[in-house]
This record gives sequence, structure tokens and C-alpha cells, in this order.
Amino acid sequence: MNVLDSFKLDGRVALVTGASRGIGCAIARGLSEAGACVYGIGRSSDTEAGEGIFQYRQSDVLDKDSVSRLLAELVERHGRFDVLVNAAGITMPDQMEADPLTTFQRTLDLNLVAAFACSYLALPHMLSGGYGSIINVTSIGSALGFPGNPGYVASKGGLAAMTRALARDYGGQGIRVNNIVPGYVHTAMTHTSYSDPALHAARAERTMLGRWGSVAELSGAAVFLASPASSYVTGADLVVDGGWSAKGL
Ligand code: NAP
Repeated sequence: MNVLDSFKLDGRVALVTGASRGIGCAIARGLSEAGACVYGIGRSSDTEAGEGIFQYRQSDVLDKDSVSRLLAELVERHGRFDVLVNAAGITMPDQMEADPLTTFQRTLDLNLVAAFACSYLALPHMLSGGYGSIINVTSIGSALGFPGNPGYVASKGGLAAMTRALARDYGGQGIRVNNIVPGYVHTAMTHTSYSDPALHAARAERTMLGRWGSVAELSGAAVFLASPASSYVTGADLVVDGGWSAKGL
């Protein structure tokens, strides 16, 4: 296959969680632009992508029945299911002090347990279709200690480890499972630090490129991992952090 053709997603059917805004929305757009038939979900009634970019459905990843029904509907309609991107995520540092246990639990339930549930619901459809790529959106916090947010750091570390476990379990059946590891990207999640001049500059200077990332800069990584261009890549971290985690002095 021509190398450029190997990045094409024509005929593939994808589901992106957390597609109402931010990184998930940009990834859903990118997969669609690469040719996939993309469905995106979130709790919000709309996606910031607007209409016609991908098919958006209001759905909560904590509601396993809703996700299961949607996957069955996609397979019924398209006859296959190929790509799952677990991008839905939360961070709750403001609530750590008042209620650390609930904050820790809720963060793990969404960022880790729901990603596992979506993966397990998607895997049978991928196995019967003969193609499968699961992409988990982790964080530089999956491998590094960040302050004041142990639930987030633990959830992303767990998600990164879950990726390797599922890659091991399903590699023999042709299913690939990988992580996209973003650094600081301007979204609703990071808007407070992005808008604070001192915090903005500190995060930019910590990278090798000297700036924050944009959501569009995650799309290429997702297309690569979703497509046959990455056919020999599984259990891997694709780090998109402007050089944050590789930087020394
Ligand atoms: P964001 O703008 O806050 O978007 C979070 C997305 O998750 C939204 O679409 C939200 O949709 C969805 N979501 C939250 N709870 C959900 C639920 N119960 N069911 C379905 N969808 C749910 O944040 P983001 O920065 O784009 O983050 C996307 C992913 O990237 C997250 O996993 C985050 O941890 C990760 N990440 C972000 C950065 C960064 O710098 N921004 C860095 C590293 C990793 P609704 O509110 O509509 O449900």
C-alpha cells in the first residue's frame, strides 16, 4: 500500500468519547477528515464542531447501556466497527481539599473505569469485523508526578497501564491499543491556567517548543494510530507534549 494511502480511514467506523469539545472534538474531526464515518459522544446537547463534521450523540460514558446501544446501532447500520477513542475525561483539583475520597473515586470512575467499559463493549465488534484500534487519551501526568490532583494522575497512569494490558491480551487477534499522551493543550479543562499569565508562561517554558499545544495538533496522532499507517504499533505511548517530558535543563 502506498504510504499516504495507509493513513486513509475510508470505510472505517469510529466512536470518539468526549467529542462535545476540546481534544475529543478535534480528534473526531480529524478522523472524519481522514475518511472515517465518525460518531462522537458527550453529555452536552451539542458539539462545538457544529453540524456535518461528524455525527454527534448525547450520551454519558458512565451509562454503559447507552454506549452499548450506540455501538450495536453503528454495527447494525454500517456492518462494522473499527476505531474507539477514549477521550472523555475530567479533572477536579478544586474539590480535592473538601472531599478527597469522593474526588479520587469520581475521577477514576470517569477517566479509567469508563474507558475500560467502552473498550470492553467495543472489542467484540472489532473482533468480528477483523480490524481494531483503541486509542486512549492519557496525559503527561500518567508518568510524572503533578501536585494536588492524585486522582487525575492515578487515573491516567492506570489508563496507560490498561492500554498495555489490553494490547497484550488482544494483539494476537489483530487489535491494537495505544495511548496519545498530550502535554498542555488549551481547552476548557486548562482554561484557568492558560488565562493566567504566570501559569501560562511557566507551562510554555517547560516545553522544548516554548508554547502550549492546540487541539488540532492531536488529530494527526489519532489518524496515525487509527489507520493502517500504524499497523505494527501497539501498547505504545505517542507523546504529543511539545517536548515537555523529554526536556532536561
Ligand atoms: P474538556 O474540554 O473539558 O473536554 C472533556 C470532554 O469529556 C468533553 O467533551 C466532555 O463532554 C467529556 N466528558 C466529560 N464527562 C463525560 C461523561 N460522563 N460522558 C461523556 N463525555 C464526558 O477537556 P480536554 O482538555 O479536551 O480533555 C480531553 C481529554 O484529554 C481528557 O481525557 C483529558 O484528561 C485529556 N488531556 C487533556 C490535556 C489538556 O491539556 N487539555 C492534557 C492531557 C490530557 P460533556 O461535558 O459534554 O459531557
